[in-house]
Order: sequence, then structure tokens, then C-alpha cells
Amino acid sequence: MASSEIEVVSDSQAQKNPNEVTVFDVFSASAYGDFEKLRKFVEEDGFSLSKPDGNGYYPLQWASLNNFTDIVQYIIEHGGDVNAGDNSQQTALHWAAVRGQIAVADVLLQNGARVEAADVNGYRAVHVAAQYGQTAFLNHIIAKYNADFDVPDNDGRSPLHWAAYKGFADTIRLLLFRDACQGRQDKEGCTPLHWAALRGNIEACTVLVHAGTKQELMVKDNAGFNPVQLASDKGHRHVAFFLSNAQQGAQQALGRQNLRWEDREYRLCPDIILCYSPCNSPLHQLSSCSKDPGYIKRSGVFSNHTDSEDPLLNIDLNNSSIWTGNWSQLCPTCKIIRPVRSKHCPACKHCVEQFDHHCPWISNCVGKRNKWDFFIFICLGTLSSFLAAAVTIQRIWTALPALPSEETWIHHVVVQHPGVVTFLVLDTIILIAATTLTTAQASQIARNITTNELANAIRYGYLRGPDGQFRNPYNHGCRKNCADFLIQGYTNDDEIAWPPLQQVAS
Ligand SMILES: [Zn+2]
Repeated sequence: MASSEIEVVSDSQAQKNPNEVTVFDVFSASAYGDFEKLRKFVEEDGFSLSKPDGNGYYPLQWASLNNFTDIVQYIIEHGGDVNAGDNSQQTALHWAAVRGQIAVADVLLQNGARVEAADVNGYRAVHVAAQYGQTAFLNHIIAKYNADFDVPDNDGRSPLHWAAYKGFADTIRLLLFRDACQGRQDKEGCTPLHWAALRGNIEACTVLVHAGTKQELMVKDNAGFNPVQLASDKGHRHVAFFLSNAQQGAQQALGRQNLRWEDREYRLCPDIILCYSPCNSPLHQLSSCSKDPGYIKRSGVFSNHTDSEDPLLNIDLNNSSIWTGNWSQLCPTCKIIRPVRSKHCPACKHCVEQFDHHCPWISNCVGKRNKWDFFIFICLGTLSSFLAAAVTIQRIWTALPALPSEETWIHHVVVQHPGVVTFLVLDTIILIAATTLTTAQASQIARNITTNELANAIRYGYLRGPDGQFRNPYNHGCRKNCADFLIQGYTNDDEIAWPPLQQVAS
């Protein structure tokens, strides 16, 4: 598959400084961006710009590859054909797509280049952009020139197949966001998920599975393999494990589609022990259970919270010149550009603001709008399990009778009160778990960082400083973090202690 891709001959040469290389013809002048010499060759020496070099490549291709817009314009005005194809029928637009040269693509397309021009393999500019992970370029030609992003090449592979095969997760997000077909099978019967599984790219598989349906997990290729089998066949154990979990999850979900309430109560079982004390109000627990954790609505407006409406949610991706942001903020499932710090929860099927984690105990996400309730809930859980242990031990102690000298008090309690001992053991386990959870949450609140950010810090560009080291732009110091959390219940993301890296860069 990879061998048949576009091959760009000696393109590393073309990045050299024009002063350091010998510019001896129109091809090298175009490749190195030497406008003066190009003009001399054409206007004084009478060289043609419409003929290819010995390898069949045109001056327009060389200039397009290296984003020399003025030269591209000049070549078009002096006889260069925008749609001329080399030996493999690739045009200048194909070459611009390799490096994602948007400015050159604009010049070519506005001068009559065909956006759907295909080479001998049936690759169009959209395929090449997907093969090289040029997400912004791909979005640009789709938005501005209506490029068909779902078109198959000669082997039946769409740009989504290529992005999945190459493991470009952001390109996959963009294509899914634009409703590219996930179920398409190529000539070998492979879906994009088959190719991602074959290459063992976990991020690509994750994006495809979360945005897809259970059908894609079951589809078999012409050799009779589904994506799980392909991944384990190739020795990608991580990916095979993830995919088979997803497969089981999809099958289980089918069996309990109409049993949401039963499911929720079943999951609450461990909590019933936590609720035994009047101190741990079941009402409070239920409020963090059922409360909206900060779901971001598909329509592009926050649910019930007009105060926190994020400008990102109103950006139209078709107006691609405005948005140069982080492609990982696209949610292919909710079809929104989600704010920084939010994440899509596959269990709740929503994007959640300031996503912390999905808690199986309360069968809900913990996010911006219910973190305060959740924190109070685990504090009360810790307190009540501590009180219960203290009261139990005190009761046992005061109820101890005078024992004969050969019997120890431990033996007496275990034999006489097995129920109390079982309760105490369970309560101690809960006390340890609740104390650990409360301490971890309190420390995260003091640093204004979520559990998700701590776990995936390496994947989030906004959590890195210019030196590449970890730094949290939302940390306003322990006192302010705690005060904001205790008073409002959340911290305001608009107040950034220092601008994150991606904003500095753009
Ligand atoms: Zn989402």
C-alpha cells in the first residue's frame, strides 16, 4: 500500500538556500525559488515553462511543492498549464498537497486547476493530503473548493482509509467530523478501522471506534478477518485488547439498551454501603449522580449556561481561514469544536466541560458542573466511614465482658460477633479508598488540574511550556484555585495564568 504513494524526487534539495545551489534551468530556479534567474531564463534566453524535465516533472510542480506563490503565478501567466500531469498524471496541486501548501493551492485553483484531478492510482489532492496528514490543507480544499472528501481511489480507498492507515488522528477527526463514510470497504474488503488496526495505531483506532458503530468492529475483510483479529495477528496487543473490549461493550450495550435505570441502580450497589450513615446524605449523592456534569450541546450552545458560551462553538469550520486551532478539539461524535479541557466521554456519549473522569460508582461523568457535588460526596463518604469504624470499635470495647484468661478478646469478638467483624473489614476498605480519592481530588483542586489532564498530560499541547516541559496554565496558585472552587464550584478557564503554548505559537 505504502509503496504506491506519491514520490517526490529529491525534494530535500529544494529546501536549500538558492545562493548555495547551482540554478541552471527553469526547473531548479522554480524549485529553489530564484525568481530573478527564472525571469532571465524565460524572458532573455527563451526557455519554455510548459515542458517537463527529464523525469517528466514541470516547473509548476517544483514551485508548488515549495510554496513559491509568486513563481507559481508567474509560471501560469507565462504558459505553464495548471493541469499538466507528470508521468504518473500528478498535477501541481498533488505536489502542493504533499506539504500542505495552502497559499499555492489557492493560486492554482483560482487559475483553473481541477480539484478532482486524479493520478494513475486514482489519487486526488484529498488522498495525498490524507496520506501526508495535511489536515488544514484538506479542510481548506473541502471548505473552499468543495473537494469530494469521500471519493475512492482505484483500490476503493477513501481519504479516511489513508489517514487511518498512516495513523493521522487529527485528519481522521476532521474527516469524521465532516461525516466521511466509516463503513466503506476497499477492494480487499477493509474498512478504515481494519487499516488502523493493521498498523497498530491506538489513537487512530480510538477515534474511529468512539465515532463509529458496532458494525465496523464486526466487519470481515475478504480474507475473513475483523479488525480485532487483524490487530492480534500483527502482534499489536494493546490495540487488539482495546478493540475486543469495544466489541464486548457494543454487544453488552445491545442487551441493556432499555435498561438504563436498572443499570444505574446496579452500579450504585457499592454506594449503598456508603450511604448507611445519616451523615452521608443519599440526596447529596443522587445530586452528583444525576446532575449535568457540563455537557456541551450539539447545537453549538452550552446547555442552560449561556454565561459560559465558548466562542469556539460558534466557529464555522467552512470558514477555515478563521480557525487555525488544534484539530484534536474536533469531536467527530458531537460535531462540535469543543473548548480546551473538555473531552468526549464514550460512556455518556457527550463532550463534558472540564472533564475529570467517568465515575462508575455514580454512573456519570465528573466535570465542571458537578465536581463540587462529587467532592462533597466523597468527603462525606470518608467522614461517615470513619465515624462508623470509630463507633463500632467503641461499642465492641465497652461491651467486652470479663474474659477467662485463656481466651483473647480478638478471639471472643470474632466468634461472638462475626457480623460486626465483617462490617468493620468492609468499612475499613471503604475508608481507605475514600480517603485516597478525597486526598487525590483535594490535591488536584489545589493545583486546578483534572484527573484526565494528569493522566494524559503528554497528549495535551496546552500543558507544555515553550521548553516542552509540563506546566499548567490554569494554575493560579493554591489559594485562588481553592477559593474559586469552593465559592463558584469551578474555575474559570478564561482566566489563564499565562497563555498556553498553542496560542503563543499562533
Ligand atoms: Zn463529544
